[in-house]
Amino acid sequence: MSYTDTLSKDEAICPYCKTAHKPESKPVEIEQKYCDECGHNYYLSFNDGAYHTQPDCEINGYDHDVMTRPSKGTDYSYCLVCDKEL
Ligand SMILES: [Zn+2]
Ligand SMILES: [Zn+2]
Repeated sequence: MSYTDTLSKDEAICPYCKTAHKPESKPVEIEQKYCDECGHNYYLSFNDGAYHTQPDCEINGYDHDVMTRPSKGTDYSYCLVCDKEL
């Protein structure tokens, strides 16, 4: 299972279960949020007129599932679950 960043104009969409949450206010900086539906934590930010949510294994107490692949001469490592660059 893998999760990716999610964008929405007026709601924060949980990147894990895709439940829409109505944020109380626009986050000025990246905020850590908790989803009551699935019990996962995620990051919420507001950029370019849209709410941006991002999954992250670490804030949920999981180890990243690291995958490395060569990219233009340098190895690129990312997490298979949350898609974070490592
Ligand atoms: Zn959720
Ligand atoms: Zn991860």
